[in-house]
Amino acid sequence: MRKATRLDVVCPNRSCRCFNKLGLLNVIRKGKQKNGTIRYQCTDCKRTFARTINTLFFRKHLSKKEIIAISKQFVEKNSFRGVARSTGHHLDTVRKLATDVANHCEQINDFLLHDVKLGTHEIDEFWSFVKKNKKMLPKNFS
Ligand SMILES: [Zn+2]
Repeated sequence: MRKATRLDVVCPNRSCRCFNKLGLLNVIRKGKQKNGTIRYQCTDCKRTFARTINTLFFRKHLSKKEIIAISKQFVEKNSFRGVARSTGHHLDTVRKLATDVANHCEQINDFLLHDVKLGTHEIDEFWSFVKKNKKMLPKNFS
């Protein structure tokens, strides 16, 4: 059996005993997809997955940079048609991405409200804290 190296990827399988636990050496690299994305496997539950699973970037044809750039234009309250024109993507692509971003944000808020049990004021504080610390992120994060 292949020896697992220390990766920053965790098992996304909720019924696995290694679910969301980092540093157990249970995740190994398991080949590549057609588009070059590396697949990973949990040696405990044998499930294979991509690194981007459960994120906004999962199953997207747009690159991570493009998705971030378009999302930044949503924050500026640009119209969907304006975003489509300026980025050169189809209007339906922009609309679908907007829907996905909104759903993802809703999931994060639900997680903070119900699982972490924060109040709405605490969540507001949390986001303003994140905003303040944006300067501390590495330059290539954008
Ligand atoms: Zn697993």
